[in-house]
Amino acid sequence: MSRLITIIFSIFATFTSVAVSSPKNIILLIGDGMGYAEIALTRAYEFNGDEGLFIDTMKNSGSVIVKQLMIDDPSKIEFAGESASGGTTISTGNRTSSGRVAVRAEDGAHYKTILEEAQERGFKTGLVTTSIITDATPASFAAHAQNRYCFIQSSGACNTHNDTPIIEQMLDHNVDVMLGGGYNLLRASDAEGSTIKKKAENLGYTIVTERQNFLDLKQGTKTLGVFSNGHMPVEWVGPGGKGADLVKVDDNRVVIFPEAAVCEINPSHEGMPRLEEMSKFALENLKNDGAGFFLMIEGASIDKQAHIAKPCGTIGEMLAFDRTIRIAVEFAKEHGDTAVIVTADHGQATQVIYKPETYDGSPIRRDLIPGLYQLLLTKGGHELGAYYGTNNINDQSHTGVNVPIYTYGMDNAEDLMGVIQQTEIYGAMKEFLFN
Ligand SMILES: [Zn+2]
Repeated sequence: MSRLITIIFSIFATFTSVAVSSPKNIILLIGDGMGYAEIALTRAYEFNGDEGLFIDTMKNSGSVIVKQLMIDDPSKIEFAGESASGGTTISTGNRTSSGRVAVRAEDGAHYKTILEEAQERGFKTGLVTTSIITDATPASFAAHAQNRYCFIQSSGACNTHNDTPIIEQMLDHNVDVMLGGGYNLLRASDAEGSTIKKKAENLGYTIVTERQNFLDLKQGTKTLGVFSNGHMPVEWVGPGGKGADLVKVDDNRVVIFPEAAVCEINPSHEGMPRLEEMSKFALENLKNDGAGFFLMIEGASIDKQAHIAKPCGTIGEMLAFDRTIRIAVEFAKEHGDTAVIVTADHGQATQVIYKPETYDGSPIRRDLIPGLYQLLLTKGGHELGAYYGTNNINDQSHTGVNVPIYTYGMDNAEDLMGVIQQTEIYGAMKEFLFN
C-alpha cells in the first residue's frame, strides 16, 4: 500500500514538475573592452578600491582566454580579440577573425547564433547597447557579415563581400526590442529602394528617438529605439573635457606631473536614456508568461573611451554598466529561471599606475614615457594614474589579457568558473536555456 502511494506520489510529482517548469531567460551583459584594469580603475576612482561595485559581489566568476584568427591566414592565431570576433565567439561558440560578424573566417559561411536558435524555439529576443545599434557586438547576435562596417546599402564595406547591410538583417530578424544609437540609419535606403524607417514600420516596429516618448511606450511594443545619430554620448568626460595626454617636461626634459583632477558629467549625455533605463524597458517588455527570452545588453563605450585614452569616459560607462548588472540580477532574483552572465569581448589598453617611475631614482624624461597619462583625483581624495601605452596618439589597441566572467542564477554555473576558453560561454548558455 505504501509502495503504491509512493508510486502515485512520484508520478504526481513528475507531472507537476513538468507542468510548473517555466521557460528560462538569459540576460547576457557584455562590457566591451572591460578587462580587469577597466574595473580596477573604476573601483579606485569611485570607491577608493573598496567595496561598492555590484560586480564585485558576484561570487560565481571565472577568467576567459581571448584570442582570434588572423584575417589573411585563419590557420594562424592573434592573441588579442576584437568586438566582431569576440561577439561571434560568445554568440556562436566559434572563433573567427577580426571584423567578421557570425561568419566563418575561412569562407564566410554563416554560424547560427544563440539568439537565432532561441528565436526558432519561440523565445523573445532583445539587443540593448550604448553604441550604434548595428555595431559589432549587437550585430554578432542577429546578423552575418564579413565586414562589421557594412551597416547600410550605401556603405562601401558591403561591396567587398556582397554582405546584406546589418541594419536590414537585424530588422528582418524581428528582434523584439532593439535599443541604442543610430537614428542616422533610419534615413538610409533599403534593398527595395524605400528607407530603413519605412522598412522597420512595415515590419511592425514602433520607432522612438526621444527619451520621454520611449519611457511612455506600452509594454509589449515591438520597439526600435535609436536615440543619437551614431554612438550614444557617454556619461562622463575628463577634467575640462580632457583625456590622457603626453606628459609635460621642463627645460631639462624632466617630467612635470599634472595636478590630479576630477571627472565631470558630460553635458551631451543630457536627455539620453541611460543604459539601465533601456535595460529595464527591455526586461519588462520581454518577460512574458508564454515564452522565455534572450537579452544581450552591451556597455559599448568602456572600450571606445579606452581607445581614445579617456579614463573618465571609461569610468562613467563602467559605473552605468555596473548599475545595469545590479538590475539584471534583481530581475533574476525576483522572477527565477533567469541566468545573468556578465563578461567582456576582449581587453583594452588601460593600465592603472601611480606615476611612471625609474627604480634607480634617476629623473623621468619624456622619452621614458612613451604613451598617454592622466592623473585623477578619486572621490576619496587620492591620486589615481591612468596610463595608455600602446601608442602615442588617441588610438589605443586592444590587449590580449584574460577578461572576467561572472554569473548569477545558472544551474550549470561551474561551467563558467575558473579559467575557461571564450568558446565555452555559448555551450553553457545553450545548456541553461534549452536543456
Ligand atoms: Zn575596441
